[in-house]
Amino acid sequence: MSSTTASLQGPDTLDLTPDDAIVSPETLGRRRVQRRKMLLMQAISYAVDALILSLFVLTGTTTAWIAGGYLVCGLGISAAYLILSETHVNDRFPDHYLTTPQSGANALIQFGFLYLAPEVGLVFLCVLFIIFGFATLRISVRQAMIGWTMTTLFIAIVLLLSDTMPAIPAATPAERLVTLICFSLSVGRFVYLGLYGNAMRAVLYQRSLELKRANRRIEELAEIDELTGAFNRRRMMRSLDEESTRVQRSGSPFSVALIDLDFFKRINDRYGHPTGDEVLRTFAITIFANIRATDKFGRYGGEEFLLLMPDTPNDVAARILDRLRVITSELDWSAFSNGLNVTISAGVATMRPDETSDSILARADAALYVSKDNGRNRISTA
Ligand code: GH3
Ligand code: MG
Ligand code: MG
Repeated sequence: MSSTTASLQGPDTLDLTPDDAIVSPETLGRRRVQRRKMLLMQAISYAVDALILSLFVLTGTTTAWIAGGYLVCGLGISAAYLILSETHVNDRFPDHYLTTPQSGANALIQFGFLYLAPEVGLVFLCVLFIIFGFATLRISVRQAMIGWTMTTLFIAIVLLLSDTMPAIPAATPAERLVTLICFSLSVGRFVYLGLYGNAMRAVLYQRSLELKRANRRIEELAEIDELTGAFNRRRMMRSLDEESTRVQRSGSPFSVALIDLDFFKRINDRYGHPTGDEVLRTFAITIFANIRATDKFGRYGGEEFLLLMPDTPNDVAARILDRLRVITSELDWSAFSNGLNVTISAGVATMRPDETSDSILARADAALYVSKDNGRNRISTA
């Protein structure tokens, strides 16, 4: 019954909108369709059980009134919830499936018929299991405990009120066959429910992976300079701090270089800001293509860049920078604009024992100014 309900909204359409989120009309529409499917499955499930009861009518175990009454109750409860669903009453509640009241109503039907027709008690007991199986997919532990207690209480009342025990009809071969059919169909529905729960868990796991990937991407983007695709200043400062700490421990040589594009203001003025942007991008790509995988390169601000070179002594760092300087100046910049030329100046500093990030940066900056003072397109070491 309500159990099978779950099947309807396949996990592929699993609605993971948080309860307190503002839901869009599309989500509301999707939820309504899911509920419609669920209630259709519920109605079908009731029809299956009514059919089993009809077979028990044929075996002379119970009366046609029981089979018919059960079908009317099952379809009635499904129709009632369909009306609530279609009029969007469900959407006013955190659990738009109204799992608790719906499972409760379905369980009440079973208790009622367990009292009215204990001779086919097996059918209603089986359905109770299916109802619980469905409900526990969505309810809280507290609600489950309440449901469990209420069920125990109601069964106790039914047992006290009636003088016949709920029976597993097995007096004749025909009864045994119908009992077998009842068992088989109930177990089948229960298995289906378990598989559904499994699929739901798989979807949730998949979503959590996607979320993790998206978060990682967001973190990456927050550390990247939009214009050049190089690391941004925040990320470079963090790397510099990390590297400084590592170097203080290991004692390996560590060099940094501040690189500034020469007369960049003039480039902007002469060739336009968009060309200036293009120059920054091309410069960054050129540097990336010519540094080692262990080096870190990022935009320090404006037309100034920072290069971190782990395991690199001062003379090697100066040679690397001079190579980058030559590569930059020899690039065919006229492809961007006729007569365009780009050169860089840099200041290189190598970490001293117990030196801070700020201090090494200040020394690199001072060296950069020496390069500028000495006519630009050159490298100076601190
Ligand atoms: P110097 O050789 O002394 O470094 O001279 P300079 O002109 O490069 O230095 P200055 O600091 O006077 O000018 C830097 C210019 O870089 C000014 C600024 O408009 C430009 N700039 C900063 N960020 C960007 C950017 O993202 N895109 C473009 N196109 N220009 C930028
Ligand atoms: Mg400059
Ligand atoms: Mg500058």
